[in-house]
Amino acid sequence: MIKLDRTPKPVELTAELQAKLTDEFKLTGKSVWNIDFIKNSLLDFSNNKCCYCEANIKEESKYLEVEHFHHKGKYKDEVLEWDNLLPSCKKCNGTKNDHDTILEPIIDPSIVEPKKHLKYWRYRIKGTDEFGKLTVSVLNLNDQDRLVTKRYEIGNAIQEKLEQLNEFTDDFISGIQTSTIRKNKIINGTKALMKEGLPNSIYSATTATIILTDIEFDTLKSKLILLKFWDEELSYLETNLQNTGLELYK
Ligand SMILES: [Zn+2]
Repeated sequence: MIKLDRTPKPVELTAELQAKLTDEFKLTGKSVWNIDFIKNSLLDFSNNKCCYCEANIKEESKYLEVEHFHHKGKYKDEVLEWDNLLPSCKKCNGTKNDHDTILEPIIDPSIVEPKKHLKYWRYRIKGTDEFGKLTVSVLNLNDQDRLVTKRYEIGNAIQEKLEQLNEFTDDFISGIQTSTIRKNKIINGTKALMKEGLPNSIYSATTATIILTDIEFDTLKSKLILLKFWDEELSYLETNLQNTGLELYK
């Protein structure tokens, strides 16, 4: 989970339309929020990801649900309040279900910086206070099949890539392979890997955390600095990853 900057309320959602549809919902229970301009605006502000688990919600089976942070059954006046709507995958929306976020608040990533309440340890998200712990529990952020396994797969792929980049760099330093092609492979490969941890990528908090806390990354960075391969773009990427990733829980 990462902090999201909410985009302005869609212009199509006028006060008049909002009042009309809210009344319709109260009368019929119809899903009046399932309108393309609402869904598209929600996808825009989350880069097509679930606001909680960061899965791609454009993929089949994970498709977008309009999530009501204050649940629609109890807080009927808010069913079309823009600030109450979030883009969520089916799983997270279903898991959160009718949890009452007024009585027992959890992280609303469009308002609260998740990093302040969540840390990371061995592919698991840990709450660092009661607010964070309740968030993990209500959203089941350590769902074994869906999320912990996914984080492990991501972590494993990152470690393999970092090991390979370190091998390439060692070959360059020892003079075994010093072609421009190899140099570009090292620099561009490092950049491509780091870009996977930018906020617009799926599972960015996991990816950024794993890259920055892997000892192989520190080693690689030192070698790239030594070779004068570490450029402004890499520094920029590192700063962005630091903003996206979680601290380790220990
Ligand atoms: Zn989700």
